[in-house]
Amino acid sequence: MSVQMNEQLESIYQEIVKRNPGEQEFHQAVHEVLDSLGPVLVKYPEFGKRKVIQRLAEPERQIIFRVPWTDDKGEVHINRGFRVEFNSCLGPYKGGLRFHPSVYLGIIKFLGFEQIFKNALTGLPIGGAKGGSDFDPKGKSDNEIMNFCQSFMTELYRHLGEYTDVPAGDIGVGGREIGFLFGQYKRITNRYESGVLTGKGLDYGGSLVRKEATGYGAAFFVQEMLRVRKQSYEGKTCVVSGAGNVAIYTIEKITELGGKVVACSDSNGYIHHEKGIDLELVRQLKEVERRRIKDYVEYHKDAKYIEGGNIWDVPCQVAMPCATQNELTGKDAEKLVKHGLIAVGEGANMPTTPEGVRVFQNANIAYGPGKATNAGGVATSALEMQQNASRDSWSFEYTEKRLAKIMSNIHEICYETAEEFGTPGNYVNGANIASFIKVAKAMLAMGLI
Ligand code: NDP
Repeated sequence: MSVQMNEQLESIYQEIVKRNPGEQEFHQAVHEVLDSLGPVLVKYPEFGKRKVIQRLAEPERQIIFRVPWTDDKGEVHINRGFRVEFNSCLGPYKGGLRFHPSVYLGIIKFLGFEQIFKNALTGLPIGGAKGGSDFDPKGKSDNEIMNFCQSFMTELYRHLGEYTDVPAGDIGVGGREIGFLFGQYKRITNRYESGVLTGKGLDYGGSLVRKEATGYGAAFFVQEMLRVRKQSYEGKTCVVSGAGNVAIYTIEKITELGGKVVACSDSNGYIHHEKGIDLELVRQLKEVERRRIKDYVEYHKDAKYIEGGNIWDVPCQVAMPCATQNELTGKDAEKLVKHGLIAVGEGANMPTTPEGVRVFQNANIAYGPGKATNAGGVATSALEMQQNASRDSWSFEYTEKRLAKIMSNIHEICYETAEEFGTPGNYVNGANIASFIKVAKAMLAMGLI
């Protein structure tokens, strides 16, 4: 337990663990936020008295449902669907859907809890939620994906609405899945309600830059952290884990800003390409052909593929974990620091273990936690909602400018709040404290809800 966690917070944390047994990722996410809140409860004793933390840790609503579907051979499968609507004080519930076999309630709750604070940091009117299923999209045909999405939406639709709950994508849910989900929502409700889902295709209400936003935003956030240290991407070697939506656009923007990304991965292994990752090839393999990252070496004989390897063995100055939770451990962090690391930007949600975070902070690494660094995705989703509400669509340049401004604002809020609360340079405290205060004040203003 950290030194900052006082008795009051420790007992609140223990109560939350007891009420939510077996949900290790959720406990971890709650602990990480509570760890920052000691000085906040001193400054705002009313938050303690009105039990704001306990209320925040209890979702407003949790929906768990059966998702039956048939595969191409006619065989029946049953998956479990989730939507955890955590907090709607700042706006309609907003947060992605994850389709991955590892999904269970504890993962959806960790993601939904994080989402409350991330969304508050964007400064846009969105509450926090997350959802998904233990369905594995890997190796499924388009028809099977459609069958699953239609069945999933057949239950979920009754809980959604542009003023109620607005899902988007996450792991395993990209443009294809959002299209099938939107089509089924429209069909069941007989309403063309564009603002009910974000991450839509550009032909039917999607926003330019939404696809790129999480990765671009993460690259912008790190650029700000480097700027504060009077540095830039210029000439820096970077490693980006994953090869999905967030990873691809993180690589694109870092490269554009002068950095050299030399490694990326999927869950089977990683590619190390000293010359710099060939992004067009990664995009073709992963986005278009849905192949594995190992196929990269068929086209680049000078690149290495390490099956089952650990991407954090690759020395770099900027590390961007963009795959999944707890992918970067304390040992990985030690190795990275030894190899000359300067900055870490979390494109994924909670990718660094608590031990890893401690190593980075003790070594004075510029460390951007996911809830700040990857907030560009949901921020651009909120911009998509704005465009849908006004039946408008903005240009790529204008939307990207809005994204860049939002990311620099988030950086500034985190930086200044960390200073104000006596921990300069600690973006974890800055992000947790600034967003918590915003949500807590809104909750108090609305009475006991
Ligand atoms: P994608 O499904 O597009 O890509 C995920 C990538 O991570 C794939 O390369 C995948 O490899 C790899 N991966 C997934 N699970 C594991 C695992 N257990 N071990 C190793 N590698 C793994 O997802 P996204 O890019 O959308 O999401 C990546 C991360 O970013 C997640 O943490 C997500 O919550 C977060 N995020 C996403 C946002 C978005 O807008 N999409 C917004 C904010 C955060 P493989 O193909 O082998 O499974």
